[in-house]
Amino acid sequence: MTTINRFGNMMPPPEAVAHPYLLDRTPFQIAGNLYFVGNEWCCSHLIDTGAGLILLDVPAASGLPGLLYNIDYLGFHIRDIKYIIVSHAHSDHFGCVNALVHRTHAKTFLSAADAMDMRQNPERVAAMNRDLGPYNESFVPDVELQDGDTIELGNTVIRCVLTPGHTVGVMSHFWDMDYRGRTVHIGIYGGAGFVSLSKESLRKNNLPLSLQDAFLDSIAKVWDEPVDIMLGNHPFHNDIYQKYMRRCRGEEDPFLDPTEWHRFLQELKDRFLDFLKMTPEEVREMYRDSQLTMYYQGCFKNS
Ligand SMILES: [Zn+2]
Repeated sequence: MTTINRFGNMMPPPEAVAHPYLLDRTPFQIAGNLYFVGNEWCCSHLIDTGAGLILLDVPAASGLPGLLYNIDYLGFHIRDIKYIIVSHAHSDHFGCVNALVHRTHAKTFLSAADAMDMRQNPERVAAMNRDLGPYNESFVPDVELQDGDTIELGNTVIRCVLTPGHTVGVMSHFWDMDYRGRTVHIGIYGGAGFVSLSKESLRKNNLPLSLQDAFLDSIAKVWDEPVDIMLGNHPFHNDIYQKYMRRCRGEEDPFLDPTEWHRFLQELKDRFLDFLKMTPEEVREMYRDSQLTMYYQGCFKNS
């Protein structure tokens, strides 16, 4: 697993883009009221607040059947989804929002900065929607979040921290959860990918070069957050399936790891600084082939 660059090309390989159900996996409880309902490409997390369900990120439109299956598998019902929080305006994290809202009337949340970027750059967003699979649609959030805003439902209060870089308004999220008689801190770093931050990509996408500095500032901004359970935007950012397999093999609490937050942020920073030194040819080479299948080969070999 150490040879894989988790910030390299982890787009699904062509076979999985053509047959998105190949990315689906059984969902599971992480801890307490927190569940993983995502797929091998993108994370979706479900929180059972006691006053309805929160979904934190939803898959691309092609992942909707898998998400619905996963919610049902865990014994929940989509009519109880009250809030959908989207970490950033990339359609692998929001592509099925409109379909879910159509059936649930859930309230949707996105940062004001990303909401404005979507409004002002419809061609770029439409092109990305197409690139990331069929049926992806942009959406208009009900609530536009500012840095530090909180979202409260039932027993859960989620703090939304602006960590721009990956997009102009990507947010990281933090909340406390009661677990086995104590409070544990949950944290998820929003927007850990940086391929879109090369000079060439920024220019092409009409985005400011200052996003490169913002990316580093954002890592520093959340460095001191206390995080006992680190979640990821993508499963390969926090090795969530590997942890799940460890639990299946008898380990009690593989998700609880207070050292992971800093290890992850340091790896992200180091890889990004390496990336900034690369030539356009080296960047192209790094992103040439999908590594997603290779990444999971070891994980599910004996499952
Ligand atoms: Zn993204």
